[in-house]
Amino acid sequence: MLANSLVELDRQHLVHPVSSFRGHEERGVRVLRSAKGATVTDSEGRELLDGFAGLWCVNAGYGHESVVEAAARQMRDLPYATGYFDLGAEAPIRLAAALAERSPGDLNHIYFSLGGSDAVDSTIRFVRYYWHSKGQPGRDQFISVEQGYHGSTTMGAGLTALPGFHDGFGVPYAWQHKISSHYLYRNPLGDDPQAVIDASVAELRAKVAEIGEEKVAAFYVEPVQGSGGVLVPPKGWIKAMRDVCAELDILFIADEVITGFGRTGPIFACEDEGIVPDLMTCAKGLTSGYIPMGAVFMRDHVYETIAEGAGAKAVGHGFTYSAHPVSAAVALEVLALYEGGLFENGVKAGVRLMAGLESLRDHPLVGDVRGRGMLAAVELVTDKVKKTPLPASMQPATRLFDRAWEQGLIVRSFAQGIFAYAPPLCCTDAEIDAIVERTRKVLDLTLEDSEIR
Ligand code: PMP
Repeated sequence: MLANSLVELDRQHLVHPVSSFRGHEERGVRVLRSAKGATVTDSEGRELLDGFAGLWCVNAGYGHESVVEAAARQMRDLPYATGYFDLGAEAPIRLAAALAERSPGDLNHIYFSLGGSDAVDSTIRFVRYYWHSKGQPGRDQFISVEQGYHGSTTMGAGLTALPGFHDGFGVPYAWQHKISSHYLYRNPLGDDPQAVIDASVAELRAKVAEIGEEKVAAFYVEPVQGSGGVLVPPKGWIKAMRDVCAELDILFIADEVITGFGRTGPIFACEDEGIVPDLMTCAKGLTSGYIPMGAVFMRDHVYETIAEGAGAKAVGHGFTYSAHPVSAAVALEVLALYEGGLFENGVKAGVRLMAGLESLRDHPLVGDVRGRGMLAAVELVTDKVKKTPLPASMQPATRLFDRAWEQGLIVRSFAQGIFAYAPPLCCTDAEIDAIVERTRKVLDLTLEDSEIR
């Protein structure tokens, strides 16, 4: 009864992110009520294994009392402090110091945002200011990678390279350029890693030459492309792109909104390739989704250039909720949980997850299995040789999601017929095995669909 009235109120008043308004009205909302560990319970009391950690964010898992206590304590003591007027609070200062200590190289200066999109947006503002400060305001062109996702603010959506975020919105801007993704499974060059790396290097150089070397401000990458379908670059790809940027004096920006905080194994995925970006963004796992927060990390030279450029003037960028003390208190407690064993468990669980998903390769619908750590995907095809995607008439995004739900599994399914996995790092062996078994059940049921038989 309660659930029914909520569905109706939702239909009438709540606008859902990245959803078909009409499709959502028709399907209605599924209300989640509570959660513990890797299991969420809906309003009907049905338990589901969350194979996607909410929206690749609840890395620590649900229901940690110590996080609740940290937030309550901070709310009681000081629920808000601005960073304007030289003011501040203890938790964000301690958090910035802790993150600087753990981040690669000299990414020592941290600006806190409310999430990933405004972290990315902030980097665009800081990059522009950086080049102005260097006396090169003409460096105002930005390059990112096809299939990339960099958020949903107007500027970030233009760096994003997924048509659904552009169509009807008037982006990308003319100053936002793209190069091809590595997407090994569907790369026209084949899946030879070195050939793909060489081609990407050549394409980046050609794009810079086309725009004009003295005009390019920055290049953005995700260490693993998430929303584009969990596309894992070949080993050495990120490093090669970083080296080109260093050589051409272009700022290299790693968007670690998904990959940060143990998702691929190390605290930041840049460590997988031993690179230090000029700027880095994170969000999601920073607070494990318990409360909104994101961050921009700057290397010393970026911070110093901006500081020198501004002199006594204020750098005119900031939000009311930058460095929110409650979010910072939560992030500090989440970090303690990660380092108290969750990172370690995530590495172990990631090996099991990848092995389990690999075992699905024998299924007639499985074209590709890829991933790194606790970030993985299974790409479905109707013909393994031709790599034919599932027919759009099947509406894979909703049908596969619903089918997994019926099996007690929450897993993201992209419209192309790609399952994406990002389970909480706290998963037990049994939970990882259940994710794989339930996926196989979904694949078996899908094989019986009339559209693909
Ligand atoms: N960058 C990347 C790589 C992301 O995956 C996301 C969100 N999925 C964002 C930015 C935007 O973050 P948010 O949704 O917190 O604004």
